[in-house]
Amino acid sequence: MRAWAVVQTEAPLQEIELPTPEPTGTEVLLETTYCGVCHSDLHIWEGRYDLGGGKVMNLLDRGLSLPIAMGHEIVGRVVKLGPQAAGVKVGDVRIVFPWVGCGTCAACLAEEDNMCLTPKSLGVYQNGGYATHVVAPHPRHLVDPGSLDPAVAATYACSGITVYSAINKVLPMPPDEPIVVVGAGGLGLNAIAVLKALKHRNIVVVDISAEKRDAATKAGATATVDGSGEGVTKRIIAACGGQPLAIIDLVNGTASARFAFDALRKGGKLVQVGLFGGELSLPLPLMPIRALTVQGSYVGNPKELRALVKLAQAGDLQALPVTTVPQKDANAALMRLRDGKVTGRIVLKSEVA
Ligand SMILES: [Zn+2]
Ligand SMILES: [Zn+2]
Repeated sequence: MRAWAVVQTEAPLQEIELPTPEPTGTEVLLETTYCGVCHSDLHIWEGRYDLGGGKVMNLLDRGLSLPIAMGHEIVGRVVKLGPQAAGVKVGDVRIVFPWVGCGTCAACLAEEDNMCLTPKSLGVYQNGGYATHVVAPHPRHLVDPGSLDPAVAATYACSGITVYSAINKVLPMPPDEPIVVVGAGGLGLNAIAVLKALKHRNIVVVDISAEKRDAATKAGATATVDGSGEGVTKRIIAACGGQPLAIIDLVNGTASARFAFDALRKGGKLVQVGLFGGELSLPLPLMPIRALTVQGSYVGNPKELRALVKLAQAGDLQALPVTTVPQKDANAALMRLRDGKVTGRIVLKSEVA
């Protein structure tokens, strides 16, 4: 198979030839048709996360090995099944759930693969969708997109379930109670779409970019707030008509975590999703006195992917703006994302799509 791979961190992706995998056991081999380019690919490409205070988490020390074909928002066509794989057939088009684990622990058996202690995520620890072929470990990791646009359906595997799972951590809430979403990139626009599909009516979106705030308004945000400079907390509280109970931080950098935490009402919850990096210092007495919750949320599980696809198939989920580019232009797409020039999502389209 061909892959557009990270051969060296922070160097351009290289087109390389790798052996086409042979599916064994329950594995299913698919040819990639579409693959979204996600912001977390940039962190993998850089090989590190910023932990704040000058500390970094080096992914090469954490099981990332090069070369790797990134890409975890994958749609593909089944081309070969392992001897124990059942439930799909050659030619079927499927969304591939990428956040796979060991396959045998309690979390994996409960279909909470993303909580497995030995992650084997596609496009991170195993080759993903920046390649002509990809292997799903088990047919249960494959979801039928039905009549959905496959380029949009691909994005449900990461940006879709990531926001769906984060939103589920603040719901149920009365539909007119504000939910604040920080960040109006691909994740933010998906968050607006999912909240609307779940009939939530009050969505306040924060972003530093006027263009992205406009995109959020078009997508259905009730109000937008400029996230740059001083006074962001005050502006959030004003836009919400009081301190909000629920904030989903899709950026999760030092600045956004601070203004989000400071805006919370008593009993409020901050759900941290983004991987921008940095640190947040918590005033410890305020946590109990104000009964606050700060919760991390990491991607989602196969049950959430199926639920989200069902929501989309019911026609309630507005598709986020997607731009398709040829798969061989993966490096240029990644660089556009790095330079902040992407509104919505870039999705790679392969020659067999
Ligand atoms: Zn992602
Ligand atoms: Zn496991």
